[in-house]
Amino acid sequence: MTGNINYEEKKGTDRETVLTELSQEILVPLPEKKLGVALVGLGEYSSGQLAPALADTKCCYLAGIVTGTESKIAEWKVKYNIPDDNIYNYENFEQVSTNDAIDILYIVLPNALHAEYVIRGANAGKHIICEKPMGVSVRECDDMINACKQAGKMLSIGYRLHFEPHHRDVMKMGQGKVFGELVHVNAKHGSTDTKGWRLDKNLAGGGALMDLGIYCIQAARYTTGMEPVAIKATEGIKTKPGIFNNIEESLTWEMEFPGGLIANCETSYSSEMNLLHADAAHGWFELSPAYAYEGIKGKTATGFVDLPNVKQQALQMDAFAHAILTDGPVKVPGEMGRADVKIIEAVYQAMKTGDRVSLE
Ligand code: NAD
Repeated sequence: MTGNINYEEKKGTDRETVLTELSQEILVPLPEKKLGVALVGLGEYSSGQLAPALADTKCCYLAGIVTGTESKIAEWKVKYNIPDDNIYNYENFEQVSTNDAIDILYIVLPNALHAEYVIRGANAGKHIICEKPMGVSVRECDDMINACKQAGKMLSIGYRLHFEPHHRDVMKMGQGKVFGELVHVNAKHGSTDTKGWRLDKNLAGGGALMDLGIYCIQAARYTTGMEPVAIKATEGIKTKPGIFNNIEESLTWEMEFPGGLIANCETSYSSEMNLLHADAAHGWFELSPAYAYEGIKGKTATGFVDLPNVKQQALQMDAFAHAILTDGPVKVPGEMGRADVKIIEAVYQAMKTGDRVSLE
């Protein structure tokens, strides 16, 4: 049984083919059982994206919540039919260890809290999905990976774009050299509506790079299929130093790949940017907007790319649940999150020193 994916728009034959490929890769064989997911942190991403996506998943479902805000409980209980036994707060969180209805904890907290909750969750005997950025230092990432290994639990990062047809197409075009050898990559991601903990270095770990620039790092890595060997970076001028007093408001950086290929990247909390562009020997391809939850659009030297927009988070969570149920590999594992955090550390070092920072 394949279990058709129906959490997407279907238009045209090419689109059908792409969706069938996704189904085959993510859902086959379709397990008989669904795993229970508890969302840890009920902020904007959990309420606006993950909980609705869990209504569309085939291998998992929303079983529980962990929240520090008492007033959110009544609404979530009713809206998602969550039993009292599956509702926790940050203090009694460990009691989840005796709850067989919850298999996966999805950590959707401010960045600097990820490590603590991933480790506590693994020690409580649960599989973990952790939002991006995985942690605010490589050391934290190592601790998280080790905790999950020691507990014999799987760990994944919330990298939804690995399940998005346009990004999968970019991976094929770049890594498969469809337009010949890549000669340059350009990735930009910026947003102007940042507020709350994202402006506090203690909770965010950094500024625009941690939150938005990480998408450019990911994109450069999977477009090229290579790991960068060196980084150069320059912080942008602070136009609002009162707001961005201890984090970068904007940043440009260069990722140098083996053979000399350069990815120029840019991130900002004061301008809207959403682009992934690659030039190759015999053509180019790009996504714009590139990193959105929906409405991603692709173009190449030979025309528009007509691919479906899908519910990325549903596919991402299904892929992880499927990996647990079938003992398969995790497509976006902790090691991938760690590699990005290592690059982030190098970007900050290059920004502060002005030096070319080697990653070799
Ligand atoms: P948010 O501010 O909307 O929600 C954060 C939640 O954490 C809130 O429920 C808040 O009550 C809770 N919290 C617990 N302790 C806290 C503390 N000490 N300070 C502040 N809040 C605290 O944030 P969000 O947008 O939901 O982001 C949460 C995580 O999800 C971040 O790591 C972010 O990078 C990630 N995220 C990922 C995507 C994606 O596309 N993969 C999109 C948005 C956010």
